[in-house]
Amino acid sequence: MPDRGIHSPLECSDTFLDAAMDRLELAPAMRQLLRGPYREVMVELPLVRDDGELRVYSGYRVQHDNARGPFKGGLRFHPSVDMDHFRALAAVMTWKTAVADIPFGGAKGGIDCDPHELTKAELETLTKRFTEKMDEVIGPNRDIPAPDVGTGAPQMAWIFDAYAVRHGYEPGVVTGKPIQLGGSLGRTEATGRGVSMVTAWACEEEGLELEGASVAIQGFGNVGSHAARFLAGLGARVVAVSDVHGGLYREEGLDVDALFEARARDRDQPIAEAGAPGEPLANDELLTLDVDILIPAAIEGVLHGGNAGEVRAAMVVEAANLPSTCEAHALLVGRHVTVIPDIVANAGGVIVSYLEWVQNRERMRWDVERVNGDLERILGRAWREVSSRAREEGVDYRLAAYDLAVSRVREAIELRGF
Ligand code: GLU
Repeated sequence: MPDRGIHSPLECSDTFLDAAMDRLELAPAMRQLLRGPYREVMVELPLVRDDGELRVYSGYRVQHDNARGPFKGGLRFHPSVDMDHFRALAAVMTWKTAVADIPFGGAKGGIDCDPHELTKAELETLTKRFTEKMDEVIGPNRDIPAPDVGTGAPQMAWIFDAYAVRHGYEPGVVTGKPIQLGGSLGRTEATGRGVSMVTAWACEEEGLELEGASVAIQGFGNVGSHAARFLAGLGARVVAVSDVHGGLYREEGLDVDALFEARARDRDQPIAEAGAPGEPLANDELLTLDVDILIPAAIEGVLHGGNAGEVRAAMVVEAANLPSTCEAHALLVGRHVTVIPDIVANAGGVIVSYLEWVQNRERMRWDVERVNGDLERILGRAWREVSSRAREEGVDYRLAAYDLAVSRVREAIELRGF
């Protein structure tokens, strides 16, 4: 985990929320409702490893708010997760689905395991035990998990299978499934595609020419690698990328396709050793490169009080969730760096999750053109609403996005009554 400074992800998501609630002058009880989770579940997950050793993991699900629709959000498998971590990320999902104006609330969960250290069979067992123990709180009309850090289509397939034991065929219980099991075309690349769309719209709004603009991307997982490819396709010069092992830099632009293919062949190979031309670069150097656009696309808290003052990019596009601490946000905005917040920048993923869920309800498969067209329409509307609010109210994009999201959730709570 990176140095988070003095602000944890939960303190930061609360700080961002407080700023919006102050502006909206909400009463104390409404503030309490909007801040705290609806439900938190923790389960014990004993697993006999293939070598006979017994290990006990913890499984979590935090359901933040469901006033606008079923809880929705990813599952993260990472050794350092805990309840507070998921409290922050679940709230972020509530605001993200509200900004996108799709009929979901927010949730997040996962298991405190290191998926790289488990075999496929062990991971399957662990994921299925988790699903059995969460059976009462998940479901296609209740709470719909999806991939996040450390999970992907295989885990979603196992959840779908374990849930079917009691409930029969219910593909809408998870999104991000393999295509063969009712997954949507376009879902895998949706977050990265959405990041590139929002980056292009934000550049237009801010008068920055995307064609030829230099871009540095921190994190080359599913989100970062697809964003790199789409942005290169729009004519941007992706000069630096990195993974946990380190980064690669090339002034004239990296061979993004070669790096993308190398990652598809072997996810665990360090990106700097993929054979693409470029010079090695340390991870923290990437964040302060002299580039036009910086895209943190990995985990939370990478931009913090200790380094945000040195960011030289004109624009930061948050492809990860909560990649800037509240301290970093204040420093960046204070230095007139344009920050495109996570709840808009990376909403493409959950938007195509919504399209997958609709297809599952209809027992239909749409072609990829329809999926991508709907993604562009829904995300485009969200961007226009956020950017016009920012312009009209004279506030930064994060505050505008939170303002919009909090107003929508509050309205739904009040309409439903108590
Ligand atoms: N994990 C992704 C996110 O943070 C996707 C969630 C989903 O599709 O439900 O937005």
